Amino acid sequence: MTHLVVLGSTNMDLVVTVSPAPKLGETVTGREFRTIPGGKGANQAVAAVRAGADVSMIGAVGNDEFGARLRAGLAADGVDTDLLRTAEGPSGTAHIVVDDEGGNAIVVIPGANGTVTSLLPGDETLIATADALLLQLELPLSAVTAGAEAARRHGVRTILTPAPAQPLPPELLAATDLLVPNEHEAAALTGHAEPRAAAEELLRHVPEVVITLGAAGSLYASRGTGPLTVPARPVRAVDTTAAGDTFAGALAVALGEGKPVPDALAWASSAAALSVQRPGATSSMPYRTEIDAA
Ligand code: ADP
Repeated sequence: MTHLVVLGSTNMDLVVTVSPAPKLGETVTGREFRTIPGGKGANQAVAAVRAGADVSMIGAVGNDEFGARLRAGLAADGVDTDLLRTAEGPSGTAHIVVDDEGGNAIVVIPGANGTVTSLLPGDETLIATADALLLQLELPLSAVTAGAEAARRHGVRTILTPAPAQPLPPELLAATDLLVPNEHEAAALTGHAEPRAAAEELLRHVPEVVITLGAAGSLYASRGTGPLTVPARPVRAVDTTAAGDTFAGALAVALGEGKPVPDALAWASSAAALSVQRPGATSSMPYRTEIDAA
């Protein structure tokens, strides 16, 4: 079975539904409040484990109630949390205001995620056993870079989702095998709004790129081959939250199993298309049997 390690964030999403959203200084009565486990790292871990991999999560939760729930949620999905640290202080939280038009405003407080500044003894040993290491940018860049470099030392494929978009240290890019930005992140990284131009620029720094294009699918490019466009499945989307994380998790599983790139991209697109037809982040993520049947 493919073994993946995710070095990434766990957040409790605190979601209020209110319309119209309040302006600064206003107090309004909203409709609903929900707490939903999230964080890009945890989301990719759940996507990958449901897609059929063995998945281990490295990161941190806080020593609060949210932390216990975040850890238990990952474990319930079958993610190995032995190296998920419990830090003094609060877990990461995302404070999300959603209005009736589906618009949202989000404040992320890193909390425990911010304590993950480097690898601990044991982390590199685990990474060394993996088929791939999945990374995002919701942990301090020092840890993300250390993880990528550790993977590189052991010949382990590194897959980086550069979100939230920010300038990437050259050492991190140098240790990245596959970069998976969405079109906005690709534009922010390169200054090119046009995906093909952005991909070409990114290939100066990493050997392989997949730019996800929402309902327009995805664009794969590598140094060895010409660009390849993969259409999205034509489905009726109700909630595209975590579509990118579902795509990245499933793609890592497919590549880890040795599927050829076009097949791996099509399979990841099927997984993401299933997720956009259902509400929520991890709640929308499909299981392997569903992806295979799609
Ligand atoms: P992110 O969630 O990071 O912004 P995208 O919106 O680019 O990422 O979506 C990731 C992938 O999810 C796309 O490449 C596509 O395969 C799938 N996807 C996203 N939106 C839709 C949609 N409306 N219909 C079908 N597939 C979609």
